[in-house]
Amino acid sequence: MKDQSFPEIRSTCPYCGVGCGVRLRADGNGGLDVRGDPDHPANFGKLCSKGSALGETVGLDGRLLSPRIHGRDASWDEALELVADRFRDTVARHGPDSVAFYVSGQLLTEDYYVANKLMKGYVGSANIDTNSRLCMASSVAGHKRAFGTDTVPGTYEDLEEADLVVLVGSNLAWCHPVLHQRILAAREARGTRLVVIDPRRTASCDGADMHLGLAAGSDAALFNGLLSAIDAAGAIDDDFSAHITGMQDAIAAAALDDDAATGLTRAQLDAFYKLWIGSRRVVTVYSQGVNQSTSGTDKVNAIVNCHLATGRIGLPGTGPFSVTGQPNAMGGREVGGLANTLACHLDLENPDHRAAVHQFWDSPVIADTPGKKAVDMFRAVGDGRIRALWIIHTNPAVTMPDADAVRDAIAGCDFVVVSDITAQTDTARLAHVLLPATAWGEKDGTVTNSDRTISRQRTALPAPGDTRPDWDIIAEIGRRMGHAAAFDYASPAEIFREYAALSGVAGTLGRDFDISGKAELGDSGYKTMAPFRWPFTQGRQGGRFFADGQFYHDGGKGRMIPVRHRAPGSTPTADTPFRLNTGRIRDQWHTMTRTALSPRLSAHLAEPYLEIHPTDAARLHISPADLVHLHSPHGRAILRARLTDAVQPGDVFAPMHWTGETAPAARIDALVAPLTDPVSGQPESKASVVSVARFDPA
Ligand code: SF4
Repeated sequence: MKDQSFPEIRSTCPYCGVGCGVRLRADGNGGLDVRGDPDHPANFGKLCSKGSALGETVGLDGRLLSPRIHGRDASWDEALELVADRFRDTVARHGPDSVAFYVSGQLLTEDYYVANKLMKGYVGSANIDTNSRLCMASSVAGHKRAFGTDTVPGTYEDLEEADLVVLVGSNLAWCHPVLHQRILAAREARGTRLVVIDPRRTASCDGADMHLGLAAGSDAALFNGLLSAIDAAGAIDDDFSAHITGMQDAIAAAALDDDAATGLTRAQLDAFYKLWIGSRRVVTVYSQGVNQSTSGTDKVNAIVNCHLATGRIGLPGTGPFSVTGQPNAMGGREVGGLANTLACHLDLENPDHRAAVHQFWDSPVIADTPGKKAVDMFRAVGDGRIRALWIIHTNPAVTMPDADAVRDAIAGCDFVVVSDITAQTDTARLAHVLLPATAWGEKDGTVTNSDRTISRQRTALPAPGDTRPDWDIIAEIGRRMGHAAAFDYASPAEIFREYAALSGVAGTLGRDFDISGKAELGDSGYKTMAPFRWPFTQGRQGGRFFADGQFYHDGGKGRMIPVRHRAPGSTPTADTPFRLNTGRIRDQWHTMTRTALSPRLSAHLAEPYLEIHPTDAARLHISPADLVHLHSPHGRAILRARLTDAVQPGDVFAPMHWTGETAPAARIDALVAPLTDPVSGQPESKASVVSVARFDPA
């Protein structure tokens, strides 16, 4: 019998970008009972394995409960004064670009807003980037090229109203499980067709109508082939074309590509093209398999081009749909928490937008050039151009490509601050100052999920020890750096009201990210705020984007972008003949800080592994469960072999969750090449080259 004496609190899950609603009830012993929120529009009560196990992950084992300086406990006053002093001093001596913040899609919107304001408006640098750079930066860049803003046109209901759902580079069944369940339910109810495009045969292929196991990195060749087929079939939407520029150039570029580069048969290609063209309502969902590529932005635009050419956008059941990995990757985009963006979908490189934000903040300065994106940021840390670094709720010593070099760069940095819920991460161990933050369940604020629904995360447990919310820590540093009035926040509600008011400025500059109606919310209104999806302002009837032919580029037209297929940046050699694909597993999240606390989640796949095709394994004398040794030009790892024809010959796959703390020999991102997309700066985490050999400990 549940203890009903504690109130039930409505909040959201802290894992993936589906953003499921949860109902939390303290059990009186420091734990939480968790169930799906039947009224939340993302999940209507459903939860996946990770969300269901949340109650098992809120214990205080391993928590960082007080500030630390060089490993000793310290007072907040001493730690904050040291951080503010070192950042102020570094800026004074070496300029604003000598400091940086590296933040996370785990942050709440209010945390993100304050960090972004401090760096761009008060330090005067745009050196704030996020681990979301590793997740969806190519989608951001592709949206801006096509639409004029980073606007996701789709909604979850579109997935249920589509005739055809295409998953590209997205193992939705494991990485966004509740969304996948919604698609399967629609398939059952109305016969939605489902196609999976992925080099690997993943769990998402179960129940799909078609799996196209294309060659790694060949997505642009496939969607250029589709665009050529659309053109040849006379399936261009002539009425919608009046709202689009660049169509003929995009079609001409597509015609130069050969879809044979996909490695698919003519029959497979023609069947897919026929199904896509013959389905009026098509949603193309894409994720890290598209984004994490040296041609990620071009791949995004190759997909978007097909939707623009056929007018399959903005109408119910249609559109390209990038799903975000993290719980608040979208909120980070909305507050401008990337090195090349401004708050409320305004542009850092637009002087009018900069001036408007500068005036609104009444700040001493506004950053006027893009800051360093993640990979470049850690290069600058490594060569001493960045001398003071604040890392917030992320573990780059494990998760960045070329992770050993990143770990060494952090270790060599003059001054490193880490805010986290635990000191037991590879990155936290390198910090000079550790700041203890409140965790999910103890925090209060908002997040935005993949379909632009803004929801509240609410406090259900007291803050343990000396932990403090991130917005409070960051604002305190802002005050101690000399900006008392600008960072005089008493609550997340106050920050949200300021942010909502700034969105009204964005509205006057033609952005539909205008939630300024929420700026009037009192504390009680913020406390009870129900989930809502933007836009809800005039001119976007029903919250739909682009079906009216109105885009955000000058002149109001959307753009088709001419793109060409490019092979991945790393080329297999005789020494490194395999392509390494990395990704998530069903029951772990990121570097397992929270999910490893649940025995039932850890039981799913208990140790790191390498998927390798049986023919490759036979050639290398590798048997099931053998240990195998991987080398790349950047690092090495030892993993357990899993022989499976789910991967293609010549490809191998390894999960990315294990760390120096949990499996020191299996830090897979140490092998990943630090190659990035030239437009988005997103690293290519799915096509590095490695050697594989049976590991003989003797
Ligand atoms: Fe949490 Fe995502 Fe699972 Fe929903 S689908 S319960 S948001 S991990």
